[in-house]
Amino acid sequence: ATSFVIYHREKRQREVASSFQSRPIELRSDEIAQGLTGLIGNTPLIRINSLSDALGVNILGKAEFLNPGGSVKDRVALRIIEDAERQGLLHPHTGSRIFEGTVGSTGISIATIAKARPRVWVAIIMPDDIAVEKVNALRCLGATVERVRPASIVDTKHNVARQYAANFSTNDAKDPLSHHLVQSTESVLVTTTVNLLPPRGDGVGRSGDIVDPEFEPRGFFADQFENRSNFDAHFEGTGPEIWRQTNGMVDAFVAGAGTGGTISGIGGFLKSVKEDVKILLADPEGSGLYNKVKHGVMFDRREAEGTKRRHQVDTVVEGIGINRVVKNFERALPIIDDAFRITDPEAVGMARFLVENDGLFVGSSSACNLVAAVRYVRKMGWKDGQNVVTILCDSGNRHYSKFWNDEYLRNAGISIDTQIITDMLH
Ligand code: PMP
Repeated sequence: ATSFVIYHREKRQREVASSFQSRPIELRSDEIAQGLTGLIGNTPLIRINSLSDALGVNILGKAEFLNPGGSVKDRVALRIIEDAERQGLLHPHTGSRIFEGTVGSTGISIATIAKARPRVWVAIIMPDDIAVEKVNALRCLGATVERVRPASIVDTKHNVARQYAANFSTNDAKDPLSHHLVQSTESVLVTTTVNLLPPRGDGVGRSGDIVDPEFEPRGFFADQFENRSNFDAHFEGTGPEIWRQTNGMVDAFVAGAGTGGTISGIGGFLKSVKEDVKILLADPEGSGLYNKVKHGVMFDRREAEGTKRRHQVDTVVEGIGINRVVKNFERALPIIDDAFRITDPEAVGMARFLVENDGLFVGSSSACNLVAAVRYVRKMGWKDGQNVVTILCDSGNRHYSKFWNDEYLRNAGISIDTQIITDMLH
């Protein structure tokens, strides 16, 4: 009897096993991302109910904080890297080091995507006043980080990342302690020792390929401010997504500008398909872009008296606002219909208001965008279901040490009060 039971149990096991083998393996490829970069883009739009209901319009935020690298910059970093690979500027057989000057988000996106590829190393040059969690994230992602005076990120003459990339050669790689650290600029404050030598390891790349014995690392300057790939990522990606998601019923688009890629790319696409869509700039205090849009000059004397240059202003808003017209912002100039200067207390108040009313925890540039959206709707007297789209660039979790730190804000004399938003809505 026992052998009968065993016989049938084994027979059953063989049948089950063979039924598995003969079953075709059909993964739902439309439901499975192809590696990490497959998660970039195609973000949802959220109707922000508190603001929308109060105003009688639809304030729609594109949830860019859902990208795997945590911000809208994933799209830009991926496009820059892919375009560079197509142009042979980044080459898997030689290994490459990407250099970039960034307030953090772009660096985190580049570092994230680089780790999903073989033999790409990342060096990030960052202003020394940026929230420390971005530096920590970069280090966890294996990037080297150098902190400099803010001016040396956007300054064309002394752009540290460009100089490093240009000077980066096999010789430098053999002599990593960087004789080419920029000596000439007073603006550069080196607070971190950088080892520019890419790890050679045991000669086996991450993908398991054998590294070329003639391994010659190259430097590549990502150059998000001037690089057209930044604009293209939004013109061909984010813009068409918004158009599709709103069924073309978008009345206004609001964004801040760091490089200007977002506002020029998305704004440019939307204007190309709908001439009367309004494109609006949200600009933080201390930035010159507001004046450039409103008065045609970065610094109008009257304003300059009261407004210090951005890199001297300790604003808590990170990622937007600049005092130079870079290529990617220049493309937006002809299409911007109006601009709003957003104060720190407005941005701070908006971020707290959104948590209290919508459970939405956003970073400083997203909050600025939403303040500008509300102010525009109020200015135009819109209340008939118009659709205003903006970008939720990153999450509050990138901003614990400054924008979301009440003690830091109190010490900086910045009020934390949602009443400023309630008043704006009524
Ligand atoms: N928000 C955040 C958090 C950013 O880091 C940036 C880019 N510096 C922006 C907004 C602005 O985007 P763009 O560079 O496309 O103008």
